[in-house]
Amino acid sequence: MHIGVLKETGARERRVALVPDSIARLVKAGDTVTVERGAGAAAWFGDEAYAAAGATLGDARAAAAAEIVCKVQRPTDVELAIFPSGAIIVALATREPSASLDTLVAHHVTLLALERVPRTTRAQSMDVLSSQATVAGYKAALIGASSLARFLPMLTTAAGSLVPAKVLVLGAGVAGLQAIATSRRLGGVITGFDVRPAAADEVLSLGAKFLAPEAVAEQAATAGGYAKELADDQQHRVLAAIAAAIGAMDLVISTAAIPGKPAPRLITAAMVERMKAGSVIVDVAAETGGNCELTRPGETIEHHGVTIIGPLNLPSTMPLHASQMFSRNVQTLLEYLRKDGKLVLDMQDEIVKAMCLRLEV
Ligand code: NAD
Repeated sequence: MHIGVLKETGARERRVALVPDSIARLVKAGDTVTVERGAGAAAWFGDEAYAAAGATLGDARAAAAAEIVCKVQRPTDVELAIFPSGAIIVALATREPSASLDTLVAHHVTLLALERVPRTTRAQSMDVLSSQATVAGYKAALIGASSLARFLPMLTTAAGSLVPAKVLVLGAGVAGLQAIATSRRLGGVITGFDVRPAAADEVLSLGAKFLAPEAVAEQAATAGGYAKELADDQQHRVLAAIAAAIGAMDLVISTAAIPGKPAPRLITAAMVERMKAGSVIVDVAAETGGNCELTRPGETIEHHGVTIIGPLNLPSTMPLHASQMFSRNVQTLLEYLRKDGKLVLDMQDEIVKAMCLRLEV
């Protein structure tokens, strides 16, 4: 297979789709790889490391001419112009503003959308949503800790004893569980919440308390294990439980999401007004509208003494490890697509079928 790696052009994107370690493994298996010069620079992977891994360095056009081209974010309209007709691209389809599907079709390009990898055990090692959510949850906890006006852990010092901070993590999927684990390691006292019943045990196993078991519901989870939008009475129970607890919290990290839908609203302005001055909300769901009604995506605001942070593209703020994990996912996908040394897009295959945004070219 001939694989291309393009440099990201988005303003907030520092990751790279394949790192040198993955490229060395692909080259060893017989693939050839062309990397756009500087593709990994923002993630601290230099051109010399790519060359040492066996890649050929070239310009964007040379990388885009490969049989299958890897990117983090889907190409923009301008970038699409350099792809030959019939190109196959592996990238995230929806995260940042990018070309519409119509444009991809007009250029006869096939997009294998990484966020469409099925959440099955078989495909777990190709799942960028999980790997990048791990980064987001970790970073959200650090941002929360560093934005607080107080320590997270309990401290006993000659200058007095300080009580640990109370942290509430809303949404206990991949990002939420990582936020719980990270803020607990920093010494906070953690409470977690999720509407899916399976999440309660995971929260408890990390040494956190679980908020409001009565607000959890079997019908909140789909057969695939995802959350869905809640019925009015259940939404009411969830909001009541959060409203009752939030006034005691110093830090709230919210990560609740419903695939393909705007983020569920879990923190109202009235709830923020109940929080203590100096408290912090880190709304990891800012990208899909936010779990807090006051969140402004990409901004940090203050309301009634509460700092509300709406970070965008958290994985890109830790580009080295985020790229390394992303790259391992892409490498596994490429190996999966390679049959007898050749690239094969088998439309009967459940993973390929789920990811393909354009079938015939
Ligand atoms: P996600 O990012 O879609 O959502 C984050 C969390 O928000 C989820 O846990 C969800 O239940 C929760 N949520 C939604 N609405 C809520 C509300 N109103 N109140 C509170 N919480 C709410 O989720 P994710 O991290 O991608 O993971 C979702 C599920 O998929 C989990 O069960 C996870 O274990 C599973 N998963 C499976 C695989 C795999 O098998 N390959 C990979 C990753 C995740």
